[in-house]
Amino acid sequence: MTIVARSAVELVAAVRTGELSATACVEAFLGRIAAVDGHVNAFLAVSRERALEQAAAIDGRRAAGRPLGSLAGLPVAVKDALCTTDMPTTCASKMLAGYRPPYDAEVVGRLRRADAVIVGKTNMDEFAMGGSNENSAFGPVRNPWDLSRTPGGSSGGSAACVAADMAPVAIGSDTGGSIRQPAGLCGITGLKPTYGRISRRGLVAFASSLDQIGPMARSAADCALVLETIAGHDPGDATSLGDAVPGYTTLLDEPLAGLRIGRVKTHFGPGLDPAVAEGVEQAFATFEAAGATIHEVELPHADYGIPTYYLIAPCEASSNLARYDGAHYGHRAKPDGGHRAAAGNGRQHEPAAAGGFDSPLVEMYCRSRAEGFGPEVKRRIMLGTYALSAGYYDAFYAKALRVRRLIQQDYLTAFQSVDLIAGPVSPTPAFKLGEKTGDPLAMYLVDMYTVGTNLAGIGGISFPCGFTPTGLPIGLQLQGPALSEPLLLRAAHRYQQLTEWHIRRPALPA
Ligand code: GLN
Repeated sequence: MTIVARSAVELVAAVRTGELSATACVEAFLGRIAAVDGHVNAFLAVSRERALEQAAAIDGRRAAGRPLGSLAGLPVAVKDALCTTDMPTTCASKMLAGYRPPYDAEVVGRLRRADAVIVGKTNMDEFAMGGSNENSAFGPVRNPWDLSRTPGGSSGGSAACVAADMAPVAIGSDTGGSIRQPAGLCGITGLKPTYGRISRRGLVAFASSLDQIGPMARSAADCALVLETIAGHDPGDATSLGDAVPGYTTLLDEPLAGLRIGRVKTHFGPGLDPAVAEGVEQAFATFEAAGATIHEVELPHADYGIPTYYLIAPCEASSNLARYDGAHYGHRAKPDGGHRAAAGNGRQHEPAAAGGFDSPLVEMYCRSRAEGFGPEVKRRIMLGTYALSAGYYDAFYAKALRVRRLIQQDYLTAFQSVDLIAGPVSPTPAFKLGEKTGDPLAMYLVDMYTVGTNLAGIGGISFPCGFTPTGLPIGLQLQGPALSEPLLLRAAHRYQQLTEWHIRRPALPA
């Protein structure tokens, strides 16, 4: 088997025993990136030299008999929403083009301390807003299974690079489905852990009550390996949970006998592609054969998930993105026509009349934001600002918070009678690039099965459960109660022992 086709578990074991050097491992993936990323556009930055230096240092330590970290030599790609000191962090926005954070995200630090090798930063929808990667300021990512289609989003680069064997593991973030949906559309495995399970410090904030970082890999076993390193309390993130981190990898092999899986009838309603429905139904049959029992459950407020999410997320985004004002960091508009001094130096105040701005400072803010943000980010900021404004706050934001509580309660009730809920990740397989860009509502509806997990703060995992007749992956989603990651991973792992969908690889032009 070629190096790039090996699982993360195998690669880490091979480096530990010395069967494979960290250098050979990292070189193989860098070579694969150089060979195929021209077709996919999954990476916004590749850290070739530093990655090879790190790999050489790991090999040196091994040769000297010194201890190695738990992920020694494992190449990892990181979504460009996570801060890295050695590579720019742009969130795929012109606003942050070239921005170098002064610190590493906690997750990046944990990976580095475990001797994982960060090979690059992955493309995404701008500020993680989108479900197709077409909102990137640096061009869309292409789905490795069909280059004319979207990989999903917003962690589309992370999903596509794993699907195309450019990294064995990638880190994504999920606010309303951005790990699970692209994983589903690219035929890989993606875990959105419970809110607070992984520190968000150094993750560029989109919607802080929903954002969660998670692993994306070819299998549940590889996700478990990475989760063990990146999960855990961080005093630097007030929302991070103090609960002990279980040994996810050691819990994978327990049998599924007696597992109760919920099936939600409304998951199979209008809008669901028949090939997706069939793949998901077959997955239920596989779980039953593995000893699980299937039970009908209801999520009565699930239909309100999309409107609730698309109020709460833009409200929080409008507040979080207020920091991009051109003054502190990020893009700053050039003074008007070059005639004015840079705004903020306090010297050259011009009359308000020019351009209708109250002051040169306000003009600088407005121009910087107008130039730096793309159209979808602006739409969200406007929606959120409107919904939070006096007079509309109660009608929109406060109401959405109340509905969010009902959605949370639905899950709590459902999880009294079942251990997990299974269903589709997305209503359709990967759609064509450009198909939904003119219709934001159609794009938002893609998230109908994923936003509930974030609104409830619980865990979800997605992985392939079949292919369409035209060869596109079909994703299955399992949702579980708070801190059910061991069970989510175990159920997905058992399924992957019984099936081969996750082994299939796309054929890319060389
Ligand atoms: N597609 C959703 C959105 O556009 C989810 C994004 C995410 O999870 N970051 O908001």
